[in-house]
Amino acid sequence: MWNYVRLAFRIAVRVLWWALVLPWLALAVLRAGVRKAEANVRGLLALRVLFDRHARCVRGHRSDLRGVWECRGCGGLFAGWAFQACPTCGSTCGHIGCDRCGLAIRNPLV
Ligand SMILES: [Zn+2]
Ligand SMILES: [Zn+2]
Repeated sequence: MWNYVRLAFRIAVRVLWWALVLPWLALAVLRAGVRKAEANVRGLLALRVLFDRHARCVRGHRSDLRGVWECRGCGGLFAGWAFQACPTCGSTCGHIGCDRCGLAIRNPLV
């Protein structure tokens, strides 16, 4: 008789343990998934900048990111995206000047 009670108690403890641990595990997995999704979205947003034709300075002026640029490393001119690597020396610039006010627009990749 006592064997059955002890067995039932042991099963109850195990069920309770799983009932407590499983939701915690599920929450942990879910939270990790959400964090991963957030990182992916952030990565996609950063990637999107690569294809943007315009960027805004801190004052909100739109500047064209496509055009002819002078490399600050070697002084050579190249056509394309403002923050791409210079085809001559391979260097990239950390910022460009706003078309209107001249304030720096940061390179989103650095
Ligand atoms: Zn260069
Ligand atoms: Zn500006």
